Amino acid sequence: MIGIYGGTFDPVHLGHLRTALEVRQALQLQQLRFIPCATPPHRTPPLANELHRLAMLRSAVTGQRDVIVDTRELDRGGVSYMVDTLLSLRAELPETTLCLIMGMDALRYFDSWHRYLEILSLAHIVVMQRPGNSVEGLRSQPTVYTLIEQHRAMQLQELRRQPAGLIWVQPVTQLAISATAIRGMCARNESIQYLVPDVVRDYIHQHTLYCERGAIAN
Ligand code: ATP
Repeated sequence: MIGIYGGTFDPVHLGHLRTALEVRQALQLQQLRFIPCATPPHRTPPLANELHRLAMLRSAVTGQRDVIVDTRELDRGGVSYMVDTLLSLRAELPETTLCLIMGMDALRYFDSWHRYLEILSLAHIVVMQRPGNSVEGLRSQPTVYTLIEQHRAMQLQELRRQPAGLIWVQPVTQLAISATAIRGMCARNESIQYLVPDVVRDYIHQHTLYCERGAIAN
C-alpha cells in the first residue's frame, strides 16, 4: 500500500511533513510519494517556479527511507489533473493499493475535481483533519458529504482488502501551518523558522523566494 501526497509545495512545510509521517505510520505504508503539481487546476499558480519547489521538496525529504519525490506531474507539464496521475501510477503498479492523501480543506471541493469519481475508483482517499475543518463541517457540501458517507471505511484493515474506493479519515496532529502564511511572512520579512525544515528556510533565503526586497529575517 503506497501513499500519494500531492500539492503545490510552494513551499513544503512542517504541516505537510509531519502529517505525511503520521499517515505513513498509522497506515503502515510501504512507500510515500510526494507529487508536486505543475499548474494546479483550482487555484492561482504557484509563486516559486517548478525547479525551486522541487528542490525544496527534495531537500526536505532527503534521507527519509521509502519517501520519494515523484516528478510525473512536472514532467507531464500543463494542468495537473490527479486522475491522470493516478492512471499513470495504476499502469505502473497494477496490484498496489494506492492511498491519495489530502487535507480536509482539499476534500471540501472534491466534487469539482476533474473526473472525481474515477479518482475514487483508482485509489482510496485518506483525509487528514486540518485546523478549521471537520467531516461535520462538510455537511454544507452535500455531494462530498454523501460520498464520504457512502465510501467511508470504519476500520483501517478495510483499506487492505480492496485496492481503491474507500475514504478513510485519519486524525493527525493539528498544525495550523500553511504555505500561504509562510509566503506572507517572507514578504513581510518575518522569520519562518520552525515552520519549515532549516534546509528549506536556507534555500528560501539563498534564492530570496517570496520576498520582494530580497532580505529575510532568520
Ligand atoms: P497554500 O497555503 O498555498 O494553499 P498549503 O499549505 O495548503 O498551500 P498545498 O501544497 O497546497 O499546501 O497542500 C497540499 C496538501 O497538503 C493538501 O491536501 C492540503 O490539504 C495538505 N496540507 C497542507 N498543509 C497542511 C496541514 N498543516 N495539515 C494538514 N494537511 C495539510
